[in-house]
Amino acid sequence: MTSNVQVDRSLIRFALHGGAGDLAEDGAAESQMLRDSRAALRRIAEEAFAELQRGASALDAVTLAVERLEQCPLFNAGVGAVLNRAGQPELDAAIMRGEDRGCGAVAGIARVQSPVRLARAVMEQTPHVMFAGIGAEQLAQSLGMPIVEPAYFITPLRVQQLQQARRSGSISLDHDDQDADKHADAKLEAQTENTTGGFGTVGAVARDARGHLAAATSTGGLTNKLPGRIGDTPLIGVGTFADDRSCAISCTGTGEAFIKAGFANAIHARLAWSGWTLENACAEALASVRDYGGRGGCIAIGNDGSLQLPFNSNAMYRAWAEADGRIYVAVRASDAD
Ligand code: ASP
Repeated sequence: MTSNVQVDRSLIRFALHGGAGDLAEDGAAESQMLRDSRAALRRIAEEAFAELQRGASALDAVTLAVERLEQCPLFNAGVGAVLNRAGQPELDAAIMRGEDRGCGAVAGIARVQSPVRLARAVMEQTPHVMFAGIGAEQLAQSLGMPIVEPAYFITPLRVQQLQQARRSGSISLDHDDQDADKHADAKLEAQTENTTGGFGTVGAVARDARGHLAAATSTGGLTNKLPGRIGDTPLIGVGTFADDRSCAISCTGTGEAFIKAGFANAIHARLAWSGWTLENACAEALASVRDYGGRGGCIAIGNDGSLQLPFNSNAMYRAWAEADGRIYVAVRASDAD
């Protein structure tokens, strides 16, 4: 059987993020951690882009990229996820396919090696969209997915961050760790509504050679969050979204404000029904995140191939492929290499 769907490599677009936040503006040389993060973003973006060039679907590319980012301890997802007030990881993830709005999400899990793989299994192997906690972990087990102890995700840096957050009584956001080696006693004083911290969630968006869009996001949420708290990441239409009629979006930032802003759905509606550009729709949605007391950013690919990576903090870890296939990596607003 032959498919009449056109395959055109010039349609391919890809972007990923490793969280947003406010980095210290001290002009000092980059920390080793920041250099390592840049290298990881580049390596993973190159791998996902190469897969797209080989004919992988957008869905496979974002799954691969987010799984790789979950495995990297530098980011707040999977291994290296931040810890809740009880000292435990509670992981959230979601994935969405633009072709038919297929989607899957998991929240509050601590024993499944790859939350994004489980989100995808929810989409592909159950009649449901979202699972949480023990039920989600039982589903993973019943599907034969790799199960781990919560300790698998915990790194010394996250334990240290939690101790600092407990001392200051804060609920803080990730990426202060970028400067932790330089500012060891810097207070993680951020509240979810008033943060000087960062984020660290990971996500990816892609358009494949058939013109289909997909998005995926994975996170440990907020350091010192109350057990059971769930942010924007696993909420379809908020932190994660894809629809071939408009765009693919993955967010990072103060989850509560993104939820109040109805973030991705607001962008979709402006594109699909009001003829806005992706740039303007993202800017407007980010403005409303700020109105609700939050900060952060998103990566977005329009169905016309436009790419947006806006943020209202001073940094967002990001990598993307230009139409010519070159991979760019940037952290602060001003830099790209
Ligand atoms: N958006 C995530 C949450 O609120 C946090 C992040 O982006 O790092 O759970």
